[in-house]
Amino acid sequence: MKLEHIGIAVKSIEERLRLWRDLFGFCFEMDEEVPEQKVRVATLDIGGVAIELLEPLSDDSPIAKFIEKRGEGLHHLSFKVDDIESKIEELKDRNIRMIDEVPRKGAHCSAIAFIHPSATGGVLIELSQKEDN
Ligand code: ZN
Repeated sequence: MKLEHIGIAVKSIEERLRLWRDLFGFCFEMDEEVPEQKVRVATLDIGGVAIELLEPLSDDSPIAKFIEKRGEGLHHLSFKVDDIESKIEELKDRNIRMIDEVPRKGAHCSAIAFIHPSATGGVLIELSQKEDN
């Protein structure tokens, strides 16, 4: 597994781009909506690893609920895997609790699955496999 991106929950991508793009100078790569997760995603390259700014598209978005409970901030770490289905099986065999036992669609044509934070000491971890790989 290799760190692919860090997800940050934000109320407004425009507002936070003033820090990440304008002040820090990181390269803004793309902006995409993922309706399945009710989220808009802005991706910046911070040097081999990406930052994803996650803005809720509606009040019932998981990101909206996260911000309501805990405020804006670090949301998840995403690790790239070659074969997400076998990785999920491997983790389940070791009694690691998954949020997603079946991969679902993420940003940038990826398949993703979240590990439950109760299994990781409170860190939300996403597994991600690029579908065109
Ligand atoms: Zn992610």
